[in-house]
Amino acid sequence: MSDNINPLANQSANHSADNIANNIESHQTELQSSATKLTHGDIRDFVPSENCLDGKTILVTGAGDGIGRVAALTYARYGATVLLLGRTSSKLEYVYDEIESFGGKQPAMLPMNLEGATYAEMQKLENLIHREVGQLDGILHNAGMLGPLTPLEMYDVDMFAQVMKINFTATFMLTQALLPLLKDAPHGSIVFTSSSVGTHPRAFWGAYALSKQAVEGMSDIFTQETQNTTNLRFNCINPGGTRTNMRAHAYPGENPMSLKTPEDIMAGYVCLMSDESIGVRGQVVELQPKD
Ligand code: NDP
Repeated sequence: MSDNINPLANQSANHSADNIANNIESHQTELQSSATKLTHGDIRDFVPSENCLDGKTILVTGAGDGIGRVAALTYARYGATVLLLGRTSSKLEYVYDEIESFGGKQPAMLPMNLEGATYAEMQKLENLIHREVGQLDGILHNAGMLGPLTPLEMYDVDMFAQVMKINFTATFMLTQALLPLLKDAPHGSIVFTSSSVGTHPRAFWGAYALSKQAVEGMSDIFTQETQNTTNLRFNCINPGGTRTNMRAHAYPGENPMSLKTPEDIMAGYVCLMSDESIGVRGQVVELQPKD
């Protein structure tokens, strides 16, 4: 039973609940309309113009291998200055050299193990980028760890924390730490990486699936909190089955030649970083939707 004996108080509570509901509804309509400028098909089939990322500085996490490596090279080919963040310096050096070899803008290497990285280190990184580069227009949060495929009942709790830290918590921390720079960009773009099991959780995918669900939720909340006051846009990309080491670990019996390569799916990655996607907010873009 309610302790509140003032009917007007209840009425105003209902009013405010109505207002909140109306606000949410109009906010959702805004979200939809702001996203109608490009369909997901447009994003997948995007044909980038030469130098469409000219003048932009883009940070890529997990830039040393797999999809992140190819995204970093692709962004550089379209004119961006790329900041290569990853945990294995030798792999970053290799990507650095590849960019230099085709005449891309000089990249920067930012070795960081997201598993142990602290917020203070990420703030130092923000200061470093501010001082040495002066701008940040986009982040591709791509680094990820699969972890074991096992029932939650048996999931090792330390491993659970590790997967959540790399795939979700560090992604949140890095985004928050770099927001001051991103807000200064004319049209900052933050792209998170999800997965089919992030949208539809699946048995045995444990912390990986939960971390990707959390990433999708974070993108949605950041979108709601910034869309009326900033030019920032937050979106998730789901690459779909792609020929990388992670995929081979997840599906050891699969023929890798049946999968698209990271190069095959780059149109969507470029689109979400280019000014062509201004206005696309709060989306989860599947790059290989099942028919
Ligand atoms: P890979 O395993 O090939 O590459 C993962 C990258 O993340 C590597 O560069 C790796 O660095 C880096 N990384 C891992 N742990 C850390 C850490 N602690 N700190 C810093 N960097 C780290 O994976 P993919 O390229 O396949 O995956 C890229 C993203 O796409 C992931 O978020 C994944 O969840 C997602 N995805 C992939 C799919 C696929 O089919 N491939 C499908 C759906 C989603 P290092 O090389 O040094 O270990």
